[in-house]
Amino acid sequence: MDNIQEFRRWKGPSPNEFSFLLNNKKITGKTGWDVLNVSENIVGESKIHQIVLSGISEINKGLEITISYVVYPNLPIIRKKIDFKNTGLGELKIESLDVESLNIPWGSTHNIIYQNYGRYKNIGPFLGNWDDPLIIAHDPVFGHGIVVGNEAPGVLKRISVCLDGRTLDAGLTHSDQNYAFRKWLNPGENWKSTWVFTGLYSNKNPREIVDGPVREFVRKYMGIRLAAIPERPTFVYNTWKPFRRDVNEKLIFELADAAADCGVEEFIIDDGWQIGFGDWEIDYGKFLNGLKPVFDYIKSKGMKPGLWLSMGAASTDSKVFKEHPEWFAKYKDGKFVNLQNEKGDRFSACFTTGWKDYIKDKILNLVEGNGLEYVKLDFAIVASAYRYGGDVSGCYAENHSHKDRQESFLEIYRGAWQMFDELHKEAPNLFIDCTFETMGELQIIMDYHCF
Ligand SMILES: [Zn+2]
Repeated sequence: MDNIQEFRRWKGPSPNEFSFLLNNKKITGKTGWDVLNVSENIVGESKIHQIVLSGISEINKGLEITISYVVYPNLPIIRKKIDFKNTGLGELKIESLDVESLNIPWGSTHNIIYQNYGRYKNIGPFLGNWDDPLIIAHDPVFGHGIVVGNEAPGVLKRISVCLDGRTLDAGLTHSDQNYAFRKWLNPGENWKSTWVFTGLYSNKNPREIVDGPVREFVRKYMGIRLAAIPERPTFVYNTWKPFRRDVNEKLIFELADAAADCGVEEFIIDDGWQIGFGDWEIDYGKFLNGLKPVFDYIKSKGMKPGLWLSMGAASTDSKVFKEHPEWFAKYKDGKFVNLQNEKGDRFSACFTTGWKDYIKDKILNLVEGNGLEYVKLDFAIVASAYRYGGDVSGCYAENHSHKDRQESFLEIYRGAWQMFDELHKEAPNLFIDCTFETMGELQIIMDYHCF
């Protein structure tokens, strides 16, 4: 197509379709785009509709985007992402990305939001955060609405409804927020956004779409691994309560007997099995024969053996910290930082560095050498669940692959997810338990990436 087209999809009043800041200028579906290509492909049971747009105005030229809409058989759900490509000669900065930007046909006065995965009711304008992997925007007058799922990881989620007229936006944190998302694109570089999914309903009861189509979409099409496991553990015992770090071989044998008698299916040895943080070497003072005989005993009792590990922290006296200080996150003063808490005896590593492969190999060694089947991955990697204000978060290091601290937020999460993927590939039976501390805020228990 050689004629200039204005890209529109929604029939409501003036929808943006998407929105972001490009080198500090606001770009939307109405900024001015050439349609380069429109395609439709069937992948498995789903169909992917793609539209490729090229920026033609002063403020978006040099940028090409591909919007993907995925639809599923007999489900009122659309999954959407945007791929970015820098086709120009200069560096591009992307911020405040709303992957979805729609208008809803009702106003804020009777806008009902079921927030926090649809659990709490809110009336009026709404700004959602990390607690909102899913919201329902409901119009009680006509008994219809829209369900919105935000697949952005951890603290990077943002959804808003009726903050400004009748808009509904979903995607990544904006530049004026804590944990503000940012992505830098060099000429020729590509980048894929996180996903957002939406679904419409008109059957009065807003819970029905969550309990029906959304559940089916998450289970069948989102690709979460938990759905593929036929039997999921219900009863898990963890030694942290009440023994804290005071664990040893004798105690674990006794506890394993008792736990098996109680019907426990997974037995997790929490902090205290190791010496310090970072090297993840067994404390042979506590476990004279190592962990293998302990794990074998737990298995003989019909339970899966698990271990706690702080996936991003290392003690200042650890071998890894001394040998690879370049893998560690920095604070704005240029010093190493402990993202988890204020203890000065340990620092946080950055998952955009060689640390990712290092910690993966440590976990794989525990799987292969000792028969580990469950790993509880804990402690902050992006932000702390116990510090407020967002100041101590992300990584300011100037020699990592992220250009600045704001770019580090998503890159660190993506590094961690990549490690999970690689672990699953190399140890398919390993159960990975990623805690809310790792996700970055207190009690983030519902995030599609946890599963
Ligand atoms: Zn870093």
